[in-house]
Amino acid sequence: MMTPDEYIASLRDMKTVVYWRGRRIENWVDHPAIRPHINAAALTYDVDLEHETGDGMRTAISHLTGKRINRFTHIHQNPEDLVKKVKALRGIAQKTGSCFQRCVGWDALNAIYGATYEMDEAEGTDYHQRFREYLLEIQESDKMCDGAMTDPKGDRSLAPSKQEDPDQFLRVVERHADGVVVRGAKAHQTGAVNSHEIIAMPTIAMGADDADYALSFAVPMDTPGIVCIFGRQSNDSRKEEGGLDQGNACFGAVGGEALVVFEDVFVPNERLFMCGEYDFAGMLVERFAAYHRQNYGGCKSGVADVLIGACAALASYQGTAKASHIRDKVTEMGHLAETMYCCSLACSHEGSPNASGQCFVDSLLANVTKLNVSRHIYEIARVAQDIAGGLLATIPSEQDLDDPEIGKYVEKYMKGVASVPARDRIRIARLIEALSGGTALVESMHGAGSPQAMKVVIQRQLQLDRKMRLATDLAGITESTETQATKARMRSQKRRSEEIKAAELQSDEMRSEP
Ligand code: SF4
Ligand code: FE
Repeated sequence: MMTPDEYIASLRDMKTVVYWRGRRIENWVDHPAIRPHINAAALTYDVDLEHETGDGMRTAISHLTGKRINRFTHIHQNPEDLVKKVKALRGIAQKTGSCFQRCVGWDALNAIYGATYEMDEAEGTDYHQRFREYLLEIQESDKMCDGAMTDPKGDRSLAPSKQEDPDQFLRVVERHADGVVVRGAKAHQTGAVNSHEIIAMPTIAMGADDADYALSFAVPMDTPGIVCIFGRQSNDSRKEEGGLDQGNACFGAVGGEALVVFEDVFVPNERLFMCGEYDFAGMLVERFAAYHRQNYGGCKSGVADVLIGACAALASYQGTAKASHIRDKVTEMGHLAETMYCCSLACSHEGSPNASGQCFVDSLLANVTKLNVSRHIYEIARVAQDIAGGLLATIPSEQDLDDPEIGKYVEKYMKGVASVPARDRIRIARLIEALSGGTALVESMHGAGSPQAMKVVIQRQLQLDRKMRLATDLAGITESTETQATKARMRSQKRRSEEIKAAELQSDEMRSEP
């Protein structure tokens, strides 16, 4: 297993092509826009944090080799593994206060593991064996993988093969004896720049015309032809300045997303895990989506823990901590955070084995989890900003605080209770600002798919016919076996009590005869 230092050193050996704000960034490892995200991902390598998240949370025993591995490369074997995943995510997020990115690759490993097994059974292909060899390499080397699902998609009303620009979905453009050449892009890729590998998967269910787009593979992130264009974030100019105005200077506010372009990238056969099997594209999408949606009540409740703590701290710095409405609001934030966590635990506990023998989450509950997170995080942020007050939108800059002329005014008038320096009050307010606004919230809405994608799955798995039957049974329109049995039981009890009553009457009459 790598240590955080070894992970960061390993990135320096990579030749990944990274652009940001119109410039090629050569030393992206130390670049202020990117380094916080690297620091966050590095905590997934800090298995010494095991004692913080509980024994066995951060490492696991490989089912391939029997060796101890970083849990972020593990194939879930049972519901306990899924629960440990959620607990690990919450524990790490409590330390980073931001996305640490490595779960997308972990979920891709798990999704492809099960999907290739079932694809081989149906199609007679050998993808699963190839994938196991790739997985073994990842477990042994402890590399960070980026799971890449979202294509740019162009005109959303058109299938991949019907797009005016055929590159709007990642596709095969050349076939050779030893591999294929692919072209297209993956958008919004969390942690792409600082991953060692990128694992591509299709983004939607596909038909026969889309066979060239039914594609899954893994290549090193610095493979020739791959270009990462790192996205702008709401506070990235503050990151360039450095200092306390960033709010979360060490780990950033969100995952660090990039548009990843594949300009005629060669993929060798041994790294191809789906190539033309369009019937299985939808299944792979659903597997990945369910595993990733499982996570959000873990990592986001961890971020919420930090935000709740920040609000309680700010209230105490401002002298409002004992006000009953503040205590009530902090409690409300806690209730919402624990609700998200409950959801992630529930879909994990209800996990069950699939054909490959790995453990798959309860898909309906995983989708409910993420849909709740897309709402609850906004409510938590709203309450946080309510507690913090207008200060969040008006704090003077660190330069003003440090200015020899006017710094004394900032110090004097930004102070709350006398014992707390203004700088501390500003620091915690900046943290609340970073955690409750801008890019951080969008991630909770659209990461792992937009709310509508969850609703589609929930609708499909709602078993509405069964629920209607429950209602018509109780309303007396139809009858369930339970209703029939209950009615029969009542009839027989009524018969029995009538018999008893008749027998009693008869004996009374006999007694009263002269
Ligand atoms: Fe992991 Fe959460 Fe970031 Fe997704 S949003 S990669 S689950 S930390
Ligand atoms: Fe995400």
